[in-house]
Amino acid sequence: MDNQIMASGIVVSSMPVGETDKRVVLLTKELGKVSAFARGAVKPNSPLLAAGNPFCFGNFSLYSGRSAYTLRSVKITARFDQLLKDLTDVWYGYYFLEVAEYYGRENVDESERLNLLYLTLRALEKKKQSPDLIRLVYEIRTLGCNGEYPNVFSCVGCGKEAKEKQLSFFSVKAGGCFCADCHKETSSLPVDIRPLSVSALYALQYILSTPLPKLFSFDLKPQVLEELTSLVRSWRRVYSGHKYKSEEFLGL
Ligand SMILES: [Zn+2]
Repeated sequence: MDNQIMASGIVVSSMPVGETDKRVVLLTKELGKVSAFARGAVKPNSPLLAAGNPFCFGNFSLYSGRSAYTLRSVKITARFDQLLKDLTDVWYGYYFLEVAEYYGRENVDESERLNLLYLTLRALEKKKQSPDLIRLVYEIRTLGCNGEYPNVFSCVGCGKEAKEKQLSFFSVKAGGCFCADCHKETSSLPVDIRPLSVSALYALQYILSTPLPKLFSFDLKPQVLEELTSLVRSWRRVYSGHKYKSEEFLGL
């Protein structure tokens, strides 16, 4: 059919329109983030019933109209039934979807963000790591997907690489790490400079550079998790400032 487009991805949000329809936002490999109208998706016998709900991965058949997409059909490829049984996981899941929706862009290749989201939701379901660690990993790797992430591979002051100099300080405002020599010798250091533990540095380097399938394969000591959570919170305050609705439910 004319104007028919296939796209694979996930429903990141949906809202009712009128009594029987829905408007869904999809994050897809082929089209980036798009919103689509799902006619009759609320009806119990609708073929679009499943696609009207977040956490649904599938192959979507879309009709491209003059100003918007209409969802024609969907073939579900992955579900998160286990995740949906645990209310805490559901709220974390909603938060991850909201972050992906916020940063996703139309007509941009969002494959990495999509894969990250899939693996993060699966990690939540597997429960091998705490939701707080999964959240931390997701937030840091999201910065990587956005292309605006802290420099944890070389010193922001002298430019020397991590293999030459131990990077033992961090400044959010300067955008990354400092070596001990720069910390000692530089007269005008950023006001927010703080010590960075070796474990925290390695975790940052690992999260930003490891292939996605290996991302959720480590644990952190509670004090390192706390150190990095505080660092990411400061980073967000300085560079984003955006407050997510789902964070209220997480009590953060
Ligand atoms: Zn330096």
